[in-house]
Amino acid sequence: MGLFGRLMVTFLPFAPRFVIRLVAKRYMAGESLEQAIDVMESLSSEGACFTVDVLGEEIKSLEESSWFIEEYERVIEAISERSLDASISIKPTALGLLIDEQEAHSNIERIVRKAAETDTFVRLDMEDHRATQATIDASIAMHSKGLSNVGVVLQGRMFRTIDDIRKVCKATERGTDFRICKGIYLEPSDIAYTSYQDIVDATNRAIDEMLDSGAYTAIASHDSPVIEHSLKALELRGLGPGISDPRHDQPVTRNRGKGPGYEFQFLLGVRGNIRRNLSRIGHRTRIYIPYGTKWYEYGMRRLRENPDVAVHITKSLLMPWTNRR
Ligand code: FAD
Repeated sequence: MGLFGRLMVTFLPFAPRFVIRLVAKRYMAGESLEQAIDVMESLSSEGACFTVDVLGEEIKSLEESSWFIEEYERVIEAISERSLDASISIKPTALGLLIDEQEAHSNIERIVRKAAETDTFVRLDMEDHRATQATIDASIAMHSKGLSNVGVVLQGRMFRTIDDIRKVCKATERGTDFRICKGIYLEPSDIAYTSYQDIVDATNRAIDEMLDSGAYTAIASHDSPVIEHSLKALELRGLGPGISDPRHDQPVTRNRGKGPGYEFQFLLGVRGNIRRNLSRIGHRTRIYIPYGTKWYEYGMRRLRENPDVAVHITKSLLMPWTNRR
């Protein structure tokens, strides 16, 4: 972490709430589902599709999970009623994964079953290393119950990721659907890469492994070396806009709204110019749409976990041309 990052993390907790809100506004669709729907409806003209995240994470008691389940049920209904091109992203610790794994599986299953009724895809976001194995297990458990509308996120920075890709592919076969990102959590150096270049290289290796395994691969990065590597890796394997996935002899049945074996994903408010360029040349692009009232806690936690986010935010406010919304 650089000096600037350290300063931001020290002083931001003392900043007035309205300052944090002003900054957070760019990255959030609002506090209500209705606001999230408005944002998606206005952005759909940019050729993007969406994944909706209800803000909130690790709960302290299992009772708190009911609120998330009901809110996600509302989201699933809204996606179907408004014919939105959208999936959902859920944080397993908000459904009790670190309190009681079996209860958390039942909670996740309730959401995944409801989503399956309208062929809506559910992504299990990946959290810090305490949840890695349990999140992967939850995804595999859903597939073993015949629920194939679910896929997990893996983080390029973790040493274990290549192994995890192989194990998940073995367990969920043709239904395997990954999101690959660098990973936002600053993990210890005995389990993860910690330098920028090592993280980029490891993420690119994971993308190659996913593409070679035949899995659906959602590439979630705003970083040019990762995006450029991905474009070359796709071309090398004959994947691209409008081409049906050449990695399978028989066509693979995918959930509603999927691309031809891959897609690119971006956070709301980050590097929209790159996203629009990818979309213009025909790539499937998806925007992560977080909404909810817990924006302050979410934002502050993100900053504490990875102060580089503070640097990105400040840079995008002072030099907006580097990050056009
Ligand atoms: P960076 O090198 O961090 O960023 C490249 C450039 O993008 C920066 O120089 C900056 O200009 C811009 N940028 C990046 N982030 C921001 C920002 N917040 N504000 C302003 N500008 C920014 N991580 C997980 O651990 N688990 C997940 O489940 C997960 N899901 C994700 C889903 C999506 C759709 C995306 C896009 C990311 C997700 N992440 C997740 C976060 C990811 O792991 C990275 O921490 C994050 O994307 C930053 O890495 P980067 O590859 O974009 O590269």
